[in-house]
Parts: sequence; structure tokens; C-alpha cells
Amino acid sequence: MPTPLPVAHLNGSVVPAAELRVSVFDRGFLFADGVYEAIAVYEGRAFRLAEHLSRLARSLREMRIRDPHDPQGWRALIEALVASNGGGSMTVYLQVTRGAELARDHAFPSGAAPTVFGCCFAWPGPPEALVRNGVAVVTQPDERWGRCDIKSTNLTANVLARQMAVDAGASEAILVRDDHALECSSSSLMIVEGTTVITPPDGPQILAGTTRNLLRELAPGAELSWSAEPIPVARLRAADEIWIASTTREVLAVTRLDGAVVGNGRPGPMWQRMHAALRAHVTRFVAGVTGSAAAIIQYPVVLPLKIIGQAAPGLRERVLALVAAHATIETESVRERQSGGARYLSLTVNAKIESREALEALYAALRASDDVVWAL
Ligand code: PLP
Repeated sequence: MPTPLPVAHLNGSVVPAAELRVSVFDRGFLFADGVYEAIAVYEGRAFRLAEHLSRLARSLREMRIRDPHDPQGWRALIEALVASNGGGSMTVYLQVTRGAELARDHAFPSGAAPTVFGCCFAWPGPPEALVRNGVAVVTQPDERWGRCDIKSTNLTANVLARQMAVDAGASEAILVRDDHALECSSSSLMIVEGTTVITPPDGPQILAGTTRNLLRELAPGAELSWSAEPIPVARLRAADEIWIASTTREVLAVTRLDGAVVGNGRPGPMWQRMHAALRAHVTRFVAGVTGSAAAIIQYPVVLPLKIIGQAAPGLRERVLALVAAHATIETESVRERQSGGARYLSLTVNAKIESREALEALYAALRASDDVVWAL
């Protein structure tokens, strides 16, 4: 079991992890009224940070908890935590609750400020034996609430499902609702049919995994196609390969499902391809060259953006506000056009972007937006 590294963060202060104290009236303690993120750090650099921060901001928004930091503030907090714990490879855990007030009322407190907690755990990567041999998983009924797209600290059903898996000698539990496999207690689920990777579509029943989203980006380079489709349990059992993915597991092959062997009982050939693509991506990230565009762009830069959204009242204003949060819009450059028989609105806009971080944050925010169908 990993123990926290010595230096932690609580409400703006850097504190020894062993001395951290929060009030028993904190709503995280009383109601699990909070959200969290877990981020991998490879050789001192936080991985997929823009995506994690964008998901954190979304979780806070959906929970109606005030976001205590802007992306720059979160980055500074994380960098300080990682550096104070000596850099290297670790995970960063962040948690924000609605705060503490001397009361216990389900309705939001009037005066409480969010509680911000951050700490790090030593993390050498997923255990080598699991990468080499794959993992056993079991199916379990999904007994979670109706907003699993929010990374809430209310994890009781996930905890119970995972323990059932451990009791059955397995690593993970695949959660099944209405005869459909959705995701696992703390990881995303993918199956493989031929050379196509299939994962359930995003929606309130699953968390949009940052690792799974990265695998989707890497799929074409690994000569795999990708499809978001429902996975009835019979389809899961008939799959050529089954994978699970998360920040701390990266991508692991499932070699046993409910005690039955998957494929030939060894991690399959498509998993080998995807795992190799992921490891190569991490190596490039550590070397500071993720994405060829990121390496050659000189900042600040004015980039033409094309964003397509479902036509809806206020779409233009919402999309432009989202861009303006990360870039300076050249107002006279904004053009809009209807497409798809007026079902879609296409916006083009020139935006001045100050840094690679701002560009990554902008794309992460566009990808996370419910309004945006496609952005380039
Ligand atoms: N699904 C659930 C329910 C999770 O708890 C997690 C991670 O904790 C994931 C999926 C994978 O998310 P990520 O890849 O961002 O770690």
C-alpha cells in the first residue's frame, strides 16, 4: 500500500502529510460532498494535466462547488507539491470539498470556503507482473448513483465492488447495469473485436477517463480503429480482448473474466500494439516532445480555430467565452456558418495563444464542452 510522500497541501499551505487535519464538520467527511483527481507524474512532469484540470473544473461546476483556483493556480500548486517531494515518478491526489461550517444541513452552507487538499504518493508505474501477465476481473452489478460522469468522492459503491473483486481473487470489478458493461470500479473499460477498440459512449453512467481518451488519440497510430458503442454482457464475454485503463494502471489486458480465460489467457496482440504506443507516448512526453505541433510552435502564436457545435441558442457566445478563457480572440476574425441542414454551427476564429499550456488547456476545454462536436 503506498504511503503519502512527506509534503502535502491544505488550503494554501504546504504541510507535512502526517500532520494534516481537517474539521469533522467538513462536508467531505459528513456527506462525501466533494470531488477529486489523481494525476500521474513521470520524471517530475504531470501527465495529461490540462485534461485532468479541465475534468476537475467540470466536476466542481456540476457539483456547484466554487473552483478555488484557475488553471494557472492549480498548475502552480501541483508543481510546488511535486518539487517539494523531490520530483521523480509519483501520483498527485487532489480533493476539493464544499468546506466546513459548524452545522450539519444538507443544503449548501452560506459561509463555507472550499477545502483544498493535495498530496503525492510514490508510484513506479503499474506493477510489472500485471503488465506482463494481464489481470483477472469479475462482473458486479453497478450500484452507483446517476452522475458517474462527476469524479465525486462519494465512492461507496465503487469501494464495495472493488472489495468483492479482491475477495474473488481478482484485480477489478466490471460494473454492469441493465445487462450492459459500463466501466470498472476505478478504471475505464474497452473491448477489442478484430482491430476495433470499443468502449461505452460517454454519458452520466461513466467517468470520461483521461487515459481512455489518450488511447483513443493513439489508436490510429497503432493501426486500430475506435468506436463508442454499448457493450451488452454477451458482447463482453465474446470479445477477442478486454482492456482496462486508468491513470495508475495505464492500460492492462484482462486475461480472466469471472474465472473464464479471455483469448488464450495472455495479453493479446492488439493490447501489445496499444501498450507499446502508450509507452512510446510517455517516453516522448518525458523527453518534452509530445506532439510534433507542440514542439515546433513558437509562442505567442495566432492560430485559426474551427469549432463545430450543435446549433442551439447562445452557442456562439458560450464557445467564444470558452476560447476567451485561454486565448485572445481577434474579434473581427469571427465567422459563423450553418451546416448539416442547420443542425450544426461552424465557427472560425483567429485566437492569440500565449503558451503551449494555454493551447493544451484550450483544446482540453473544447473537448470537454458539451456544446462542441469537433474542434481543430
Ligand atoms: N472510471 C472510474 C470510475 C474511475 O474511478 C477512474 C479513475 O479513477 C477511471 C474510470 C479512469 O480515469 P483516468 O484514466 O482519468 O484515471
